[in-house]
Amino acid sequence: MADHEEKNPEQMTIAARRIIERLVQDGHEAYFVGGCVRDMVMRRTLVDIDIATSATPDRIMQLFARTVPVGVQFGVVLVLTGEYAFEVATFRSDGEYHDGRHPATVHFSSPEQDARRRDFTVNGLFYDPLTDRLVDFVGGQVDINKKIIRAIGDPHARFTEDKLRLLRALRFAARFDFAIEKNTWQALCEQAPHIHEVSAERVRDELIKMFTDRAPGRSLELLDASGLLEEVLPEVAALKGVEQPPEFHPEGDVFVHTHLMMQLLERPDCHLAFAALLHDVGKPSTMKVADRIRFSCHDVVGAKMAEKILRRLRFPNKDIDAIVQCVRNHMNVMHVMKMREGKLKRFIASETFETELELHRIDCATSHGMLDNYHFLKEKQQAFAHVVLKPKPFITGYDLIDRGLKPGPSFRDILEEALDLQLEGTFADRDAALRWLDEKLKENKK
Ligand code: ATP
Ligand code: MG
Repeated sequence: MADHEEKNPEQMTIAARRIIERLVQDGHEAYFVGGCVRDMVMRRTLVDIDIATSATPDRIMQLFARTVPVGVQFGVVLVLTGEYAFEVATFRSDGEYHDGRHPATVHFSSPEQDARRRDFTVNGLFYDPLTDRLVDFVGGQVDINKKIIRAIGDPHARFTEDKLRLLRALRFAARFDFAIEKNTWQALCEQAPHIHEVSAERVRDELIKMFTDRAPGRSLELLDASGLLEEVLPEVAALKGVEQPPEFHPEGDVFVHTHLMMQLLERPDCHLAFAALLHDVGKPSTMKVADRIRFSCHDVVGAKMAEKILRRLRFPNKDIDAIVQCVRNHMNVMHVMKMREGKLKRFIASETFETELELHRIDCATSHGMLDNYHFLKEKQQAFAHVVLKPKPFITGYDLIDRGLKPGPSFRDILEEALDLQLEGTFADRDAALRWLDEKLKENKK
């Protein structure tokens, strides 16, 4: 379910318990299973509840009025009750994996076998809400107490079956601040080069989850240490060892700086997380040692690289646009005090402003520490709080076409200048703006 925020964990638990009761009345075994049991043991707020049962999908669909067969080949039925939806899955063991992604076959089986097909011991717990009993076939409870992520069974085999588990292990370790058990870690590092067997979309979703969770800095560390960073984000791995001028970056090289920024983030949104991660990817290829180390145009080069990276990971266009804008503009924020008022107003009214402002703050806070531009922008934002920052432009492209201009790059320059002048109060109305335009076009012709 997508609307996590609106769910009330107590109500949801009561609704899920009713489903268990119904299944048990009908003569089946049924448990809460997986992430929700882990979260209960850890006393974390439940996000959703998954149910596993001995009832077959057909029987589940007969027992409940509103169901959706979401993954019948895996024995998964969505049961809808009131405002909640629960995945109810028949106990199963997975057959062989041929492609490193999906089991070729599944067999309905026992609770124990169902626990053993899961990825990590902490995710393999069952809970019976009717008797308040934890059912642990895999040692998950001990590992939660010891704060360990451990593959269930042979780690090599488990990662070979499904390469997404490589990233999932890091994600859970970062989220809970758990260590990764030695053999699991060793297998994970060995299999890192095979992550490409997983689709870019699934890798993207895992990366988004990792970097928008509570410890993006730890996620970056684990990606780096495991070799997965080199595989999925080689451009970020390339920041390591890229020296910077100490007067602006006393903290160290570009990777150290980026890592510090990620450490400052706590549950950032996706745009801020990836803008921070990628803001300096243009530095390695633009580095020149002149009077001092310089990275001229690293923002523009970085924006192009960021776009390529995000396309490769199949990010939606609207996210690419926002993140790339933040990367491209991150050096301009250093010049806001000299910006003409019209441009400043446009910047503050832009959709990415809040993200860019926060990116700038953490960029400065993790390097030279000077926050005067940040405070200046905050003040301006307040000062403009009651000003219309996005007025209907007096002049549009139609006025230019009317005057015989052909659409092209000069269009944008003229329209931007006109809007800046409008925002600065130079024109009282559209007539004044049109007079300015006619003057300007006459000048240009001379
Ligand atoms: P989250 O809190 O991020 O949702 P979760 O543990 O609930 O964590 P899900 O992806 O929702 O993770 O999956 C639910 C359960 O299904 C897991 O706890 C685990 O038991 C099992 N599972 C999910 N993905 C895999 C996988 N790739 N391989 C093996 N088991 C998996
Ligand atoms: Mg889950």
